[in-house]
Amino acid sequence: MTVTTTSLGRATHLSCRECGATVELGPHYACLECFGPLEVAYDYGTITRERIESGPRSIWRYRDLLPVPADVAEIPNTDPGFTPLVRADNLARELGLRALWIKNDAANPTHSFKDRVVAVALAAARELGFTVLACPSTGNLANAVAAAAARAGIRSYVFIPSNLEQPKIVTSAVYGTTLVAVDGNYDDVNRLASELAGEHDDWAFVNVNVRPYYAEGSKTLGYETVEQLGWRLPRQVVIPVASGSQLTKVDKAFHELVRLGLVEGDAPAIFGAQATGCSPVAEAFKAGHDVVRPVRPDTIAKSLAIGNPADGPYVLDVARRTGGAVEDVSDDEVVEGIRLLARTEGIFAETAGGVTVAVLAKLLREGKLDPEAETVVFNTGDGLKTLDAVSPVVGPAGTIEPTTEAFHRLVNGG
Ligand SMILES: *Cc1c(COP(=O)(O)O)cnc(C)c1O
Ligand SMILES: [Zn+2]
Repeated sequence: MTVTTTSLGRATHLSCRECGATVELGPHYACLECFGPLEVAYDYGTITRERIESGPRSIWRYRDLLPVPADVAEIPNTDPGFTPLVRADNLARELGLRALWIKNDAANPTHSFKDRVVAVALAAARELGFTVLACPSTGNLANAVAAAAARAGIRSYVFIPSNLEQPKIVTSAVYGTTLVAVDGNYDDVNRLASELAGEHDDWAFVNVNVRPYYAEGSKTLGYETVEQLGWRLPRQVVIPVASGSQLTKVDKAFHELVRLGLVEGDAPAIFGAQATGCSPVAEAFKAGHDVVRPVRPDTIAKSLAIGNPADGPYVLDVARRTGGAVEDVSDDEVVEGIRLLARTEGIFAETAGGVTVAVLAKLLREGKLDPEAETVVFNTGDGLKTLDAVSPVVGPAGTIEPTTEAFHRLVNGG
């Protein structure tokens, strides 16, 4: 399968992140020279704020910066993105921070940031000649692939670890995908997907064989943050890390905007957030290592439970280059992070959001974040999908008879 360079917008070729070798646009994801991961390169030309602002209220307003056809917004898809950037004054006050925003990606069509990457992967996959959509998933990607394939009217196969949260199973299967539960952890599921991708050359495994295109979708989180701040860069950003793709692409997005003259100033310090039960990147960061040693995940933050993160070394690069850090928090702190965000801002995050808020608090406590600097935190998923994490610790204040006396007894404690 080959494509003409014009059919993927302003994308021109793929380039190896390790050795810089150039590969033509196509269904490639590993460098032929060194097996390094490939990345989409562009000839951006001129891109103005006005052109972006006149686009749709979705990720497609940034289509000139994505590997998608120019008419992508007219093709059936889930139109994710342009989620709220919420000023979080209550949480900021509680944490002793001057200015804080939550980028709330729970507002996407299937309630996580994965709708962004899947929409871009689907658009590219069609141009590349794939006819089936597939993925190995820790849950949210399963939702996003199943929904996007349904809207596009194409077949999909979704592979998940069999111990996934029940809500994420239901919210994938309902879209009519072929959902396959695999006895094993995510890394086992991922290996199976790679083998199947080798057998079926018309199946686009969004995060495997079309990964270079998929990954570009994460950049839209960075673009939106800057545009929604009034075309300003924040000083520090806290981002959850599973494979690490999102974090590295948001950093790429900030640098692109600066290079294109769409925003002034320096790209922000980038901080990564992991759960201690699956924190291979945080461990490597703290130990000063360049390589990430795989771990066996054991955490309630299942959407981040990738023990062998493909982009781990690049996350280390970004954190070190930008003056950021990678930190981890215990499962108890994750639950506290979920409750803190809900109680202060009325935003119910999934466990990944709990990880990120808890890491924000920890970095502030440890003096690693500047309390005076404008800070953005990403909530990447919706708490309704991980109810089990908080259901043991929240509930009714009491159960009463339907009388005013009973109510007064309850609230007055007497
Ligand atoms: C997948 C996912 C992430 C992180 O994604 P990577 O790009 O693999 O690091 C973060 N939050 C949620 C809720 C996710 O589902
Ligand atoms: Zn290479």
